[in-house]
Amino acid sequence: MKTLEVHCLGTAGYHPNESRHTSCYFLPKCGVLLDAGTGIFRLPELIETDHLDILLSHAHLDHVVGLTFLLDILYQRPVKEVRVWGQAEKLAAIQEHLFHESLFPVPLPVTWHSIDEKPEWDLHGTTMSWRPQEHPGGSVAYRLETPQLESSPSDSAAVLLYVTDTLGTEDPATLQWMSGADLLMHECNFDDQNQKWAEKTGHCYLKKVLDIARQTQPQRLLLTHINPIAELELNDEDELLECPIQIATDGLHVAF
Ligand SMILES: [Zn+2]
Ligand SMILES: [Zn+2]
Repeated sequence: MKTLEVHCLGTAGYHPNESRHTSCYFLPKCGVLLDAGTGIFRLPELIETDHLDILLSHAHLDHVVGLTFLLDILYQRPVKEVRVWGQAEKLAAIQEHLFHESLFPVPLPVTWHSIDEKPEWDLHGTTMSWRPQEHPGGSVAYRLETPQLESSPSDSAAVLLYVTDTLGTEDPATLQWMSGADLLMHECNFDDQNQKWAEKTGHCYLKKVLDIARQTQPQRLLLTHINPIAELELNDEDELLECPIQIATDGLHVAF
């Protein structure tokens, strides 16, 4: 067994639809939340730790609006500490605009932490690192390596890559950094027919993601940030990839 467990709380890009909320994924064992879209309202019953660490890929609304839901979430399931992590410029924009007193007049019980000077750091035993990505305004990809637990030596450490809101990297050093993950969570906002829209809006399309997966060889590929008005579909050719591919859905629970 690995020590990796991910709950998909919100799997849509841009806006929710009848079956998908916007981007939010949760790792209960380490108390880590990946982005804070509208799916965050599903969090309370899943919390297992007395701390939460929220890692933001960037400050577009489909990844941060759920921060304003935290008061209710923490009322339902109080924790001792909530830390929000991201690039300093993005954190400042969120505090200045999303939490402007005209929009949300209540102080949030969290602390804000810049990753700018932290190429690698420790989050309660989980080793974190990040890389910048091409996306309007910029975004970051995260790499998480869960700890080898002494209490369960039969469980081995696991590596997860969270790569969302990106044109899709072609940089050899970044591809190397992404390589060999147990789980690659990669955005795929568009199908191949909409390659032009993907490139115009700084997102990925299926062929591009599969090409990245061929180069980085994850054990498993989970497609995220699904376009809410055009449900993504896999075809037979896509099955040619060596690892299993799955399209994320709200409520999906991935465990190793
Ligand atoms: Zn997005
Ligand atoms: Zn975005």
